[in-house]
Amino acid sequence: MMENFDTASILNWYISAGVDAICADMPFRAAEEKKEKLPEPTPLATAGTATHLAVKSAGNICENIKNMEELKSAIEAFEGCALKSHASKTVFGSGNINAKVMFIGEAPGADEDRTGVPFVGRCGQLLDKMLSAINLNRKDCFISNILPWRPPGNRTPTEGEVAVCLPFIKKQIDLVNPDILVMLGGSSANAILDNAEPISKLRGKWMSYTAENGKKIDVIATFHPAYLLRNSLYKAKAWSDFLRLAKKMSDN
Ligand code: URA
Repeated sequence: MMENFDTASILNWYISAGVDAICADMPFRAAEEKKEKLPEPTPLATAGTATHLAVKSAGNICENIKNMEELKSAIEAFEGCALKSHASKTVFGSGNINAKVMFIGEAPGADEDRTGVPFVGRCGQLLDKMLSAINLNRKDCFISNILPWRPPGNRTPTEGEVAVCLPFIKKQIDLVNPDILVMLGGSSANAILDNAEPISKLRGKWMSYTAENGKKIDVIATFHPAYLLRNSLYKAKAWSDFLRLAKKMSDN
């Protein structure tokens, strides 16, 4: 019975259940009771002028960048994405900047937001195990995300947020210049491959991405580690995707 608990106990209960951020101005249940409709994420086609200007500005910034240090500083200084104001840290890609293989996830979670390093939480631990199963480790690859800032409460990023941040991840791809891209999850695959196919259709097959510098890069998509943590039956499929990746790396 809620009325027997003080506010601190209720908050502690939420924290122990994994709730670590407020993601809307109004609690969802209260919104439901009042029959108020929470705003839908804005599709890019109807996004405002500010979003379109921010997309352009991110693209212009990237045109003049020559190395990773410059890119990292430029992203940290960028003010065109509102996600930055909610985040504690800018989470830039990490690993070997000369890697032949680059992994791209969706967006930082709470642990990454705290540390500024991609894939260090539970998802990252699973990713490390998957890498080591094919004899890779973080020094062999470059790991990054479509978004460098955590969406509040890990909500799904809007199309506008993805579009604004896309030039930054594309520039990271250009600078690393990998032979292989591994897309972790459907939304990162959709963003880079510019399609809307579900991950069930995209995963496990070789596709191609033409980098901004003109290089054709082999791309494979697989399930996001967060999805595998919730649906362990899909680990077998992810394992077969990783075996394909290992084979391609040994053939190259
Ligand atoms: N999930 C992601 O997509 N990226 C991270 O860095 C962590 C979790």
